[in-house]
Order: sequence, then C-alpha cells, then structure tokens
Amino acid sequence: MSRPDRKDNRALTRVSDFVSDGLARPDDAHDLEQVAAGFKLRMTGAMRDAVQGAGDPVAAQFVPDARELVERPEQMADPIGDDTFRAAPGLTHRYPDRVILHATHTCEVYCRFCFRREVVGEDGPLGDADLDAALAYIAATPAIWEVILTGGDPLSLSPRRIRAIMDRLSAIPHVDIVRIHTRVPVVAPERITQDMLAALKARPVTYVVVHTNHAQEMTAAARDALARLADAGIPLLSQSVLLKGINDSVTALEDLFRTLIRNRVTPYYLHHCDLAKGTHHFRTTIAEGQALMAALRGRLSGICLPTYVI
Ligand code: SF4
Repeated sequence: MSRPDRKDNRALTRVSDFVSDGLARPDDAHDLEQVAAGFKLRMTGAMRDAVQGAGDPVAAQFVPDARELVERPEQMADPIGDDTFRAAPGLTHRYPDRVILHATHTCEVYCRFCFRREVVGEDGPLGDADLDAALAYIAATPAIWEVILTGGDPLSLSPRRIRAIMDRLSAIPHVDIVRIHTRVPVVAPERITQDMLAALKARPVTYVVVHTNHAQEMTAAARDALARLADAGIPLLSQSVLLKGINDSVTALEDLFRTLIRNRVTPYYLHHCDLAKGTHHFRTTIAEGQALMAALRGRLSGICLPTYVI
C-alpha cells in the first residue's frame, strides 16, 4: 500500500494518526472521534506495517469505524460475564478449577471487536491492594488449579512486574498451571525479550495462548518472536475470533491455522464473535461458523483444527 512515509515506528493512537496514514477518511473524522471517546484507539507500528491496503484484514481489526456507534438490543456491556463471576477486584471465578486474573486493563492494540471493550484501555495495571486481594483469594481456594492471566494484555506489563506475579503464584502449592492470553508476540513482537522469556519461565508450567486472526498478521518479526518463545520451551496455543469480512472464509482460516502450526503454535479456540456493543458488523451467524469448520475438517490435518466456541 502506498502511504505517507513516517520517520518512526510509533503506534497510531489518535483519529488524526489514522487519517494522516491514509487508513481513515477525513470526512469520517467527526464520527471517529465519538468512537474513540468510547473505546481507545491503538495500532502498533508492527501492525500498521502489516497493512497492505485500507480496509484489508489487518486494518479492519484496528482502524476505528463509525459502525461501532451502532448499538443493538442483543448487545451487552459484559457479554462473557466477567462481572457476574467476580470473586475479587480483577479476579473472575466462573469454573471451579480455574480463575481469570485481569493483571492489567491496557493492551498494545485495541481490537475494534473486543468483547472487553467496556473495560480495557482505561485503568492500567491492577493496583497493589487489588492484586494482594486476588492472590489471597487464590491462595485460600485449593480447588484453583490454573490461573489465566488476561486483561487487557498481560504481556504489556514489564518483565519485572510479570516476574513478580509469577513468583507469587509459584508460592501457592495448588496452582499447577499459568496460562497467559496475549496479542503481544504478533502485534508487538519486540516485547518478547530475554527478560520477558526469563519472567515467563519463572513458573514450571506456563502456557502462552496467542491471539491472532489472520495470517497477514504473522510478519517475519512475529514469527521470530514465536520462535523465541517456542525455543524457550514455552508451549504455545492460539485463540482467534471469527470475524466477518476478515477471516470468515475457508481459505483465510486454512491459511491462518497452517501458518500457526508451521510456527509451532497449536490452534486451540476459534471464538464466535461475542455480543459486545458496537461489534455487529464483525459478527457472522453461528451456522456460518459451523459450516466453515465442517469444510475445514475435510481439508486440514487434525492438528490444525481448533475448537469453535461461543
Ligand atoms: S488485545 Fe485482547 S483485550 Fe486487548 S483489545 Fe484486543 S481483544 Fe481486547
């Protein structure tokens, strides 16, 4: 794509950044400011450089769109029940053997279809008192076998802060597994440093679940970051969201899942797009998702196939 030369690799965070980069139209700026007032904007330099044309599968995930202002009756502020199952500030306990620890509300990118768009982008890392309370709940609940760090994006935290959380989880005997859900290895691969790898290896068993939705996101730098994680002995799984106009075709999903396996990432979940506000334009029907999975089953090795979940 031809776009104005930029002297740096800074993230796009304002409507004017997207307009000056040719990813949004000046005529839409007024509406897009309203969108940004409700859900922050951020697209890393790595993802901006992966865009091949306005509206392509990478751009469509991060460039604000006036359709986000459209609210429909079926949409919800908390579509996956984080608040309903809140056990402590920053801690969701829905199933007996695992909890979700929202270590931060900040992300490296703000995906326009995010199911947590009502809460991410605002508060930054979980405060010390809330973290203490969350860890105290985990320590006092022997049924908790697995702690899922999510956010926001936990790998937007510093290696020092991640190491501190991992060390405290390591001291709780019944926590066997830490799972980290993150976009970072793909959207901000430069954050996978030796310090970050050392922090992640502080636990004996840490799984990293990489969120990625299209093979076009898997740049050379992203593939290198995944290789560093795999070479460090960290098991890698993926989660993707089925997104209308982005990856809702057999060829797009086949390409994504084959690319993941080639990079030692096992496809784990394909999520149906949740009923978050302002996301209707991203949502397929469930029948369409089932038909795509049925078609993929006839074409792809079993190790390439994730589970389609709502
Ligand atoms: S990285 Fe995850 S939590 Fe952050 S905006 Fe994207 S989908 Fe939402």
